[in-house]
Amino acid sequence: MDPVQYTRDNLADKLRQHGVNPTHQRIEIAYALFSRQSHLSADQVMAIVNEKHSETSKATVYNTLNLFRQKKLVREVIVDPTKVFYDPNTEPHYHIYNVESGELTDIDASAVQISGLPELPGGVVAEGMDVVIRVRPE
Ligand SMILES: [Zn+2]
Repeated sequence: MDPVQYTRDNLADKLRQHGVNPTHQRIEIAYALFSRQSHLSADQVMAIVNEKHSETSKATVYNTLNLFRQKKLVREVIVDPTKVFYDPNTEPHYHIYNVESGELTDIDASAVQISGLPELPGGVVAEGMDVVIRVRPE
């Protein structure tokens, strides 16, 4: 993954580079995701940013994560409609999801070969493709 050591200062720059005004709350939300480099749900992000003092509402967390997604700072991984994770790794990669533990793990894009894609409808281009391999204990 990203070898950069994230600090609140360099995250403010990263937000600016993506056209996001780095407010205090946005920096805290970015720090929760990027300093851990792990997949977090909106609820997990909210718990982390409110650890010290409760300052960020659920609406702010959702709006900010949505903005980060639109600005391609994070990627959304939809495991099922009730389980959405935010991923600070925006490089092409896929996921393994453990349905028992709820754990989401990265797989290198080169480890999965996909062939025989259908022809796309006219007027569109492929923006990305998601693969989630669901696993459970034997
Ligand atoms: Zn990932």
